[in-house]
Amino acid sequence: MKQHYRLIILGGGTAGISTANRMLSEDKKLANDILIIEPRDHHYFQPGWPLVGSGEMKLESTRKPMSRVMPKGVRWLQEAVRHVDPVKREVKAGNRIVKYDFLVVALGIELDYDAIEGARESLGKNGVCTNYIYDLVNYTYDTLQNVKAGNIVVTKPQSKIKGGVSAENSLFTMDEYVKDHDLDVNLVFRSGSNEIFPVKKYSDNLTAQLDEKGIDYKLEQELVEVRGEHKEAVFKDLGTGELHVIPFEMLIITPPMHGPSVLEDSGLLDPEGWVSVDRHTMMHNTYTTVFSLGDASSLPTFKMGSAVKEQMPILVKNLLERMDDKAPSHKYDGKTACPIATEYGHLILAEFDYNHMPEESTFLNQSDDKWLFYQFKKNMLPIMYWYALLKGKV
Ligand SMILES: Cc1cc2nc3c(=O)[nH]c(=O)nc-3n(C[C@H](O)[C@H](O)[C@H](O)COP(=O)(O)OP(=O)(O)OC[C@H]3O[C@@H](n4cnc5c(N)ncnc54)[C@H](O)[C@@H]3O)c2cc1C
Repeated sequence: MKQHYRLIILGGGTAGISTANRMLSEDKKLANDILIIEPRDHHYFQPGWPLVGSGEMKLESTRKPMSRVMPKGVRWLQEAVRHVDPVKREVKAGNRIVKYDFLVVALGIELDYDAIEGARESLGKNGVCTNYIYDLVNYTYDTLQNVKAGNIVVTKPQSKIKGGVSAENSLFTMDEYVKDHDLDVNLVFRSGSNEIFPVKKYSDNLTAQLDEKGIDYKLEQELVEVRGEHKEAVFKDLGTGELHVIPFEMLIITPPMHGPSVLEDSGLLDPEGWVSVDRHTMMHNTYTTVFSLGDASSLPTFKMGSAVKEQMPILVKNLLERMDDKAPSHKYDGKTACPIATEYGHLILAEFDYNHMPEESTFLNQSDDKWLFYQFKKNMLPIMYWYALLKGKV
């Protein structure tokens, strides 16, 4: 393996693979001069997991061997990044040190179940579920099918998360499941956030839906402890500091998350722990040979694959300009899309920019939940993900 590459990409997730494919199609000279560093055996279509958890998609269809999604013409180092030195322009991965001219950081976001006392050891038993770990998503639907009475409690942390509205997707589809099966079950939603959704156009409808469906919901309530064997969840009121215990038959946890801890002493992170890049050009605020996109970046938008779809083509143009010794001139406006299933078969498609202004792609009113949007997410999105976005063709 070479010791030096024109471009090194850290992470072979949505952002890393799509960026590599796009760079190769824009500049053929980069063939065999791009290295992707990624330790996993599989690549995951994570937006499918809430659908698996509600029985609408098969788990196996949400992953492929990493070797099958690696672009032809890149080199793959199957190791975990251990250190980055942006001054020497080198990366330590496993026991190797590799050098770069340019670096794209696409390491994603880290899940922090350990921030909730008792959570990690409770997962996958006693009704404690999560849709954020591949091996546990089937347990969500298995558990739902066995709940007969009591509370289904859905949680969302105060921290930034990926798949921003996946908790609400589970909440609404499970509410419908419970009503269809005439179960004596209450749906309870506890969110650490201080708002239902940051864009008024969509939050109005979501709040109305929560009220109409009779869902017991409260904001600024952070899950701090899981007592799995007693089937109790403990929430901290972020306003008063009081603790509240809620009994559950089923608990669906979206864990707190944070930026890539492996970069902590690299000088690449901002004070909140995200890779510090310009919100428009995606070039690093200190090191002009470094770019970042996706969940690991400081870009102040929802952390979604749909945001990567908008960011990646702009980042690639800017990176090519930098490789040509020019200043990056292309600008990302923060556009992202959040699909929110309000029941099986209906979905709100929120699309907006950095200013939280709706930026919708269709002529329909996307704050109304529509059958068409649901079908798009369930049937079209996986195809577009594997065969367009990942291939860099957006
Ligand atoms: C439950 C759920 C529901 C979601 N729903 C939606 C949705 O409906 N719509 C939508 O658009 N998005 C959704 N998302 C979010 C979407 O999947 C992410 O925003 C997207 O994958 C971000 O791409 P990324 O490349 O930044 O991170 P990832 O795709 O997570 O990739 C990061 C990669 O970095 C690798 N990595 C981590 N640490 C290291 C290391 N030390 N060294 C080397 N490699 C490393 C990882 O193995 C991984 O392959 C959802 C996510 C989840 C989990």
